[in-house]
Amino acid sequence: AATNRPDVLDPALLRPGRFDRQVVVGLPDIRGREQILKVHMRKVPLSEDVEASKIARGTPGFSGADLANLVNESALFAARANKRLVGMEQFELAKDKIMMGAERKSMVMSEDEKRNTAYHEAGHAIVGRLMPEHDPVYKVSIIPRGRALGVTMFLPEEDRYSHSRRHIISQVCSLFGGRIAEEMTLGKDGVTTGASNDIERATEIARNMVTKWGLSEKMGPLKYDEGGEEVFLGRSAGQHNQAVSDETAMEIDREVRSIIDECYATAERILGENRDKLDMMAEALMMYETIDAHQIDAIMEGRMPDPPGEWGDGAGGLGANDTEADSTPSDEGRDAGPIGGPAQEH
Ligand code: ZN
Repeated sequence: AATNRPDVLDPALLRPGRFDRQVVVGLPDIRGREQILKVHMRKVPLSEDVEASKIARGTPGFSGADLANLVNESALFAARANKRLVGMEQFELAKDKIMMGAERKSMVMSEDEKRNTAYHEAGHAIVGRLMPEHDPVYKVSIIPRGRALGVTMFLPEEDRYSHSRRHIISQVCSLFGGRIAEEMTLGKDGVTTGASNDIERATEIARNMVTKWGLSEKMGPLKYDEGGEEVFLGRSAGQHNQAVSDETAMEIDREVRSIIDECYATAERILGENRDKLDMMAEALMMYETIDAHQIDAIMEGRMPDPPGEWGDGAGGLGANDTEADSTPSDEGRDAGPIGGPAQEH
């Protein structure tokens, strides 16, 4: 038998003699992912450059099913490009598709909308880059995917099993980066509704910090049930969650508010101090639509990045002399979509 909610099972089910052996299946770690990938890769013809270990390193948080999907999607990308073998390039495309959602190339965005999105995403990326213990920025893109107009993807360098308070605060700060960047460029009245999801996530994290994770000094290491727990099977009837007093509820709200305010102010300060980089990154996004960690590094050093791999020679060299970039894109890269290009491993 399998369940995702062992916490709400009827104790009678769990009596000795019934399910005596419990196996917890968590997400695979890097070695597990490599082995899972190898199993699924047996079914597709691979080109020689494919390294399961490299893909495993770049996919923290992927489940076994995600990895199966990754192999499948990359085979589809190869088929669509009339390739007989699945290469690293296809795995990269498939990874982006799974992590960020499928591109909606048919969606037409006005130039203004694109610029807003570019600033919004650049705001996330820059705050994320400059906050301590934040996951590194993996890619920033203003190609609409799913319901999002743009994406800033952060990817941890290794598997994480717990998070420090500093890491969580940094996350809340980078979530506000998008909204603040809009405000800085469009003014108070120009901001869009694009940040609603960011705001929701930031609020949820801040609330969890106070009520669940014991990360608010004022409220202390207590669990505050707010009665909002989802009703599930046996738990629905009779057993009410103990709600907190009105006074405590007010204190919680105040504490959540102060975390949010503090993070907002931090993000605002960072973007204010780095306005030149914000402008540069937005400009780079307008030009290339998607930029990777490599190009973000260049922007943070204050210089305009080289074009992405498939625009030039595919190697995407990190040279300061970016003026000689020959503008003859290889047609196989173009067909594969605007992302393309093998991952930069640095
Ligand atoms: Zn956002």
